Amino acid sequence: MATTHRTKMLIIGSGPAGYSAAIYAARAMLEPIVVQGLQPGGQLTITTDVENYPGFRDVVQGPWLMEEMKAQAEHVGTRMMWDTIVSVDLDNGPPYTAIGDSGDEYVGDTLVICTGAQAKWLGAPGEMELGGKGVSACATCDGFFYRGKKVAVIGGGNTAVEEALYLTNHSDDVTLIHRRDELRAEKILQDRLLNHPKITALWNKTVTSFEAGEDGSLHHLALEDTQTGEKSTLEVDGAFVAIGHAPATELFKGKLSMDESGYLDVEPGTPKTALPGVFAAGDVTDHVYRQAVTAAGMGCMAALDGERFLATMAAAPAEREVEAAE
Ligand code: FAD
Ligand code: NAP
Repeated sequence: MATTHRTKMLIIGSGPAGYSAAIYAARAMLEPIVVQGLQPGGQLTITTDVENYPGFRDVVQGPWLMEEMKAQAEHVGTRMMWDTIVSVDLDNGPPYTAIGDSGDEYVGDTLVICTGAQAKWLGAPGEMELGGKGVSACATCDGFFYRGKKVAVIGGGNTAVEEALYLTNHSDDVTLIHRRDELRAEKILQDRLLNHPKITALWNKTVTSFEAGEDGSLHHLALEDTQTGEKSTLEVDGAFVAIGHAPATELFKGKLSMDESGYLDVEPGTPKTALPGVFAAGDVTDHVYRQAVTAAGMGCMAALDGERFLATMAAAPAEREVEAAE
């Protein structure tokens, strides 16, 4: 039988943003509920080594880090739900209502959206199998592991160019592979890329497969020329797929303002959406930084702003008007 779960703060998503929002909300006695979704722990559960999350001098494993965050959130009083939100009613709040795949109803005086984003993949053979063994979608996260090695970046937008430029900090041999002969990236980034002595551009090429060597990690890319159909190979130790990200915002289409790529709009420098008591944190609203630590920081900000929002709502109407006018 379907159940209604009520909370002062409903958090959708269980990545670093969702768990951090939960830790702050629970410690503020908001009795938060986290609806975890199909990927409890979020994107870091599909990676291995994490070396840039503060607090650990040694490399930690992504799934372990997320288990720890979850345990911390539960320890301070968060209720975790094994459910996925399939619809939200943002017209009649606060409180706001969300319906889970289970049929359960979640009602939150505030709503924190932390549904993240997913890297787009090429769908070529070997890509998924070699994830963490040479294939990655995040140079900032994994570039360090390719110090002194040969790497390639696939894509022609700002992300691909920035990833290629970033990788020159670690590698003297970076190849950018693009399916056309013209980049989509901003001119200034294009200039930096094309004039960089450590970067070679391969035009009109698509990766048709990612091939492993005898050690089971990436050995070379199979390429095809998009103009001539000619086939070739490129030996690399690491390949970074940078063909864009898709924020998980389908649920909010027509309900919350978003940019042309689907990232939720927030008031600059805050997690506040245009709706009172509705916040967005982490990769779902951030197409620039996309890091666990930035997502966690935004989750913290959302919980703190949610707490202030509830305090304002609880205040006497006259007081509320004065605060609103400030
Ligand atoms: P996510 O981690 O994307 O989590 C989104 C959550 O929302 C998931 O729990 C999902 O189940 C849930 N969700 C989605 N839709 C619904 C729904 N309808 N109902 C309920 N829940 C829903 N960053 C680093 O800082 N260092 C690294 O080393 C690093 N390595 C990475 C390696 C890989 C392979 C990848 C893919 C990313 C890596 N990142 C790294 C980036 C980092 O993982 C993200 O920036 C971070 O996870 C974003 O956190 P988030 O909480 O915003 O969202
Ligand atoms: P993007 O602009 O959508 O570019 C994606 C690139 O990947 C394009 O060059 C595209 O090729 C290529 N591509 C897509 N699908 C492909 C496939 N199946 N096979 C091969 N190539 C494929 O994505 P993005 O670079 O991630 O940027 C997303 C948004 O964030 C943009 O608005 C961007 O400006 C912004 N951003 C800004 C900054 C910054 O301001 N510093 C940094 C990063 C991102 P085609 O060109 O042929 O379509």
